[in-house]
Amino acid sequence: PEVAARIAAGEVIERPASVVKELIENALDADATAIQVEIREGGFAWIRVADNGTGIPRDQLPLALARFATSKIRSVEDLTRVRTLGFRGEALPSIAAVARVEILTRTAEETEGTRLLAEEGRITMQPAASPVGTAVTVRDLFYNTPARRRFLKSPLREAERVRETVYRYALGYPEVAFRLLVDGREVLIAPPGTARERAALIWGREAAEELIPVFWEAADLRITGLISRPTLGRSSRAFQYFYVNGRPVRSGLLAVALERPYAGRLPPGRYPLAILHIELPPAFVDVNVHPQKAEVRFSQERSVYWGVSRAVETALSGFPS
Ligand code: ADP
Ligand code: MG
Repeated sequence: PEVAARIAAGEVIERPASVVKELIENALDADATAIQVEIREGGFAWIRVADNGTGIPRDQLPLALARFATSKIRSVEDLTRVRTLGFRGEALPSIAAVARVEILTRTAEETEGTRLLAEEGRITMQPAASPVGTAVTVRDLFYNTPARRRFLKSPLREAERVRETVYRYALGYPEVAFRLLVDGREVLIAPPGTARERAALIWGREAAEELIPVFWEAADLRITGLISRPTLGRSSRAFQYFYVNGRPVRSGLLAVALERPYAGRLPPGRYPLAILHIELPPAFVDVNVHPQKAEVRFSQERSVYWGVSRAVETALSGFPS
């Protein structure tokens, strides 16, 4: 069972950035308004994600580390109603299977916090002072799966991926304060603000000022966000961020839908910038196709495609090339 747990964990926790992703999602699910991410040595030595969310009640803390024990899914129908980013109860147990985990947490109802340590399958808990919220510290990632550790060589490269992950959530959740420290150095300090202010922090003021708003609604579909003017583009798609019901996703379909209205306006080899939120009933999206939930499947692909294209077209129509 130990080995099985480690293999299963490998699908969710591939690298330091996957830990950061899962912990940020937990913080957002806990309604945090401020999230601090800190890594050392590319995250292999040390990752800490601290939030000011609801905290975990002491009596539920051991459950948080039991595989699937906290799954929010009890039936197939539940899967069509998922509103939270996490729902499988898989992330914390997976992280604990490949690292040493410490959770310091307190709810507003508790006068005293709790510190939980999970190491090599053993869990200990004791009372501890804590602000309201949760801080998860992950040490020695992949210490017990040396093959995985060897596969991921460069801490520099992994730190870069962590930064990209934090940016992805920071761009999608501008109302939440984000802070990122890499080896003690402050890489991002983002106070709560508008999407444009957030873009300015991450992409630079010049790019942010060139962005235009998108707002488009149909019966079951809402598309909002910021996109670049027809004349501005970048040489890669690295500046395209899509969120489906708040969940960051990679999607060729969405990229093509975004780019279609730019055709003939952007010079060849240039791609638009975008921070686009696609909201639709959860029943129309299958997020369960990918272990890391990074890809989604739409039950109405055509209407999503045309919705995004129309939304972009409408936003661009005020800006003749
Ligand atoms: P999932 O997010 O799929 O429910 P996780 O393994 O990521 O599963 O987390 C297990 C449970 O622990 C969550 O459902 C939640 O109840 C609790 N939890 C984890 N992280 C936090 C956090 N930062 N704040 C509050 N509760 C948390
Ligand atoms: Mg989770």
